[in-house]
Amino acid sequence: MTTQPGTPPTHRTDHRTDALRAATTDQTWDLLVIGGGASGLGTAVEAATRGYRVLLLESHDYAKGTSSRSTKLVHGGVRYLAQGNVSLVREALHERGLLKQNAPHLVHDLGFLIAAYKWWAAPFYGIGLKMYDLLAGKLNLKASRYVNKAQALERTPTLKKQALKGGILYFDGQFDDARLAITLLRTLENHGGVALNHAPVVGLIREGGKITGARFRDQETGQEHAVHARAVVNATGVFVDDVRRMENPAVKPMLSPSQGVHVVVDRRFLPGDSAIMVPRTDDGRVLFAVPWHDHVVIGTTDTPLPEASVEPRALPEEVEFILKTAAQYLDPAPTRADVRSVYAGLRPLVKAAEGTDTKSLSRDHVIRISDGGLITLTGGKWTTYRRMGEDTVNRAAAQAGLPQRLSLTAGLKLHGAAAPDTHQADHWQVYGTDAAHIQALPGADTPLHPELPYTEAEVRWAARAEQARTAEDVLSRRLRALLLNARASIEAAPRVTAILAEELGRDAAWQDAQVQAYRELASGYVLN
Ligand SMILES: Cc1cc2nc3c(=O)[nH]c(=O)nc-3n(C[C@H](O)[C@H](O)[C@H](O)COP(=O)(O)OP(=O)(O)OC[C@H]3O[C@@H](n4cnc5c(N)ncnc54)[C@H](O)[C@@H]3O)c2cc1C
Repeated sequence: MTTQPGTPPTHRTDHRTDALRAATTDQTWDLLVIGGGASGLGTAVEAATRGYRVLLLESHDYAKGTSSRSTKLVHGGVRYLAQGNVSLVREALHERGLLKQNAPHLVHDLGFLIAAYKWWAAPFYGIGLKMYDLLAGKLNLKASRYVNKAQALERTPTLKKQALKGGILYFDGQFDDARLAITLLRTLENHGGVALNHAPVVGLIREGGKITGARFRDQETGQEHAVHARAVVNATGVFVDDVRRMENPAVKPMLSPSQGVHVVVDRRFLPGDSAIMVPRTDDGRVLFAVPWHDHVVIGTTDTPLPEASVEPRALPEEVEFILKTAAQYLDPAPTRADVRSVYAGLRPLVKAAEGTDTKSLSRDHVIRISDGGLITLTGGKWTTYRRMGEDTVNRAAAQAGLPQRLSLTAGLKLHGAAAPDTHQADHWQVYGTDAAHIQALPGADTPLHPELPYTEAEVRWAARAEQARTAEDVLSRRLRALLLNARASIEAAPRVTAILAEELGRDAAWQDAQVQAYRELASGYVLN
């Protein structure tokens, strides 16, 4: 099951079948992690690199939840600084620096311009951002600085010119969230951990009042299996309360989900080399317009929801709000017809007292341990996933009586981490050292679709090396086609499915069902 870093699968392997076999061998794992988003993968990598035996179970696919639907920033959170949450920002800035060192193929520096249209705006934000620089300490990126009107327009030529005074330029990191999740999966496997997708946990196992394992269903066969572990971590994002209720149906919910929406438009709406940060929208939030994979991601919103769902959908008023706010800053401004994709993600915000506004709920992570020993990890953000994993494994090891071992992840290069001089300017960059192996596969020169940057070889690779099982796994998270251009991704689905069928040994009926299922899902990302 374990592949060594740099050992590419050169022939067809059914990666997931191996993982299923390993998951169901009769043994007691040191750690069972439920959920394959940032929190679960971070925890599993932390445990495996300390030498603990770890199994991760994911109900759908890695990063299917919130972890593929972020703003794509590796950041300290300028907004939390404005709220006075200095220690949270310092920790996140430290993690930003570590992630850039450990995954240089997935994280790069990006300039963010705060445009000033009032005389006081530049000095006001400038002081705050100097503090942001200072809090990053040795790991700071480039220092923030004032820019005049001409410099601001050089960096962001489509910025509205009328009344523009200049602005503040500061730096944060940018990344590809789902690709980081897949990179963590590969890192986990390189260190002997086992992870299985399409494997929902459907119940917990309790012996003598203690949680000692879980039952999961293999979605591909419908079979249920039991697994045993010394410690069980619930890292199911906005679904943590569902898993907590498997232990105690009467438990009080700890989360209050809030939805954040983004729209994706063509790069021509923000053609320079910088992002735009709007520090205060009409509803008191921040809004970003960020260049990403030759497109622009614009968001987000903060809409409290009564309950969580697997496929949250943007509300019409959220899209309208984003486009209206963008139009205050961009000229030309994107309209509904320009939106290539719209996606929604759910924030796992830890509940506060009745009547609290979700904008002010905790963005920090929380670890809660139940009477039966179920360890629930939630909150936080992608940027701090490593620290969340470290804290969780410390707690789990203490609770399960595992031998104490030091964390190694602060200096751990993630799978594929490439030397800086091997940087590729195109979409191959996210694969790091794997890129050369993929480019040697059949179809490396065959585009999947004229409006998408991807090739057929990447689909083969996703099936062979990255546990992709469905058209959605490939088009949404191994490649980012669903977010970049939902319509084009629907058109690419039949070819993707045919390649997957070849790789995984599936028949025509399976292909038809896949294409149909993908069309239905992706139509929810198209603005009509
Ligand atoms: C709109 C928005 C923008 C954001 N932008 C940023 C950003 O720019 N930078 C940043 O650092 N952070 C950002 N965040 C925060 C960050 O994305 C989240 O904190 C993080 O992704 C949460 O990860 P998670 O693993 O806790 O949850 P999830 O990613 O939701 O993962 C939970 C997983 O558990 C699985 N699961 C659920 N039930 C079960 C079960 N019974 N059995 C097995 N598996 C199960 C789900 O399928 C899911 O994959 C943003 C969040 C939102 C909502």
